[in-house]
Amino acid sequence: MYGIKHIEKSDPEIANAMKNELNRQKNYVNLIASENYASKAILEAQGSIMTNKYAEGYPHKRYYGGCEFVDVAENLAIERAKKLFGAEHANVQPNSGTTANFAVYNAVLKPGDTILGMSLTCGGHLSHGAKFSASGKIYNSVQYGVNKETERIDFAEISDLAKKTKPKIIVAGASSYSREIDFKAFREIADDVGAYLMADIAHTAGLVAAKFHISPVPYADFVTSTTQKTLRGPRGAFILCKEKYQKEIDKSVFPGIQGGPFMHVIAAKAICFKYAMTDDFKNYIADVIKNSKRIAKVFAEEGYRIVSGGTDNHLCLIDLTSQKITGKDAVESLYDAGIVVNKNAIPFDPLSPTIASGIRIGTPAVTSRGMKEKEMDKIASQIIDVLKNLNNKEVQEKVRKEILNLCNEFPIYEDL
Ligand SMILES: *Cc1c(COP(=O)(O)O)cnc(C)c1O
Repeated sequence: MYGIKHIEKSDPEIANAMKNELNRQKNYVNLIASENYASKAILEAQGSIMTNKYAEGYPHKRYYGGCEFVDVAENLAIERAKKLFGAEHANVQPNSGTTANFAVYNAVLKPGDTILGMSLTCGGHLSHGAKFSASGKIYNSVQYGVNKETERIDFAEISDLAKKTKPKIIVAGASSYSREIDFKAFREIADDVGAYLMADIAHTAGLVAAKFHISPVPYADFVTSTTQKTLRGPRGAFILCKEKYQKEIDKSVFPGIQGGPFMHVIAAKAICFKYAMTDDFKNYIADVIKNSKRIAKVFAEEGYRIVSGGTDNHLCLIDLTSQKITGKDAVESLYDAGIVVNKNAIPFDPLSPTIASGIRIGTPAVTSRGMKEKEMDKIASQIIDVLKNLNNKEVQEKVRKEILNLCNEFPIYEDL
């Protein structure tokens, strides 16, 4: 295998795990909405000598000598992020989406201040104030959900909650919400109660960049995102903000909550932002959404209930209650057939999150392999086949073979 010959010599156990993981990525259909396949350019940057350099501080204001070349990389990443999203300032140092969110909280909140964020069970993220996350321990967390009937964000409910609880910051953004998020409506509520607005576009950044989702940049004080999901970049994150918050945000990331930035990842982020400006990327995102809508349509036609009735983005949530299957059982059976999805709570789920009533299906990864609606039809009917015959080994084996053929027809990392 290209790229690990030194690991094979020095550490065969790790080399083996890496080879197996590569084969797994090649030979399974990946429908996990938060995952993607990074390009080889991204992998090269992440595996590069840029990892050796300590560069605490910011370009031209470092605490270490010898930073002139990593400065070039970080400046390119910053300028490209600003251009791609039309933002006044970008901080490209956060190591993960969770860290980016904490950097914003740390910049403008004091311990005990109130955060108003979306609950985990309705699609929010741990770092939006979940009780067992530090965001729910350090800060006073108030959570909004979705409307029970429409399963969509209910602005009247959020407005009431905001007036009652007077949050210092409102968080808009989600991990398993299939509808467009109206950032302008969030801004109006934030203005009504004098709160900051933070938009977390970890999942939809690629859609925002390609202009297939409303941009939060004109409305939110702070925008946070990962780069590894729909942006198809390295594992990492960034923060966008107005110029007036630049100092506070930069100080909060370093020295506030991080030390030396990952310069190899920052180089990869620059590559990611450059690619996201291309027509090729725009077409990719258009296909991601087409594919997602197609999968939701096939499931609906087969009698499955799609949470909120459909999707506007790269994912859909399927409620398996009327099929009398749990999310957990579905995930296990599908994996044996070569299909990777994750179990997911549905809004007001009566089951615990470790079992869950639904599965989340996302199309960023399969679309990166070049699959289109025709393949989505195939995959959806294979999933339905497996779910209808839960734990039936013959059906799983039949589907496993078809999935292997599909993976060979749409290969990834051919020369790795
Ligand atoms: C994935 C995600 C994050 C966190 O990203 P990590 O890089 O895993 O820390 C933050 N917010 C939302 C909404 C996400 O979906």
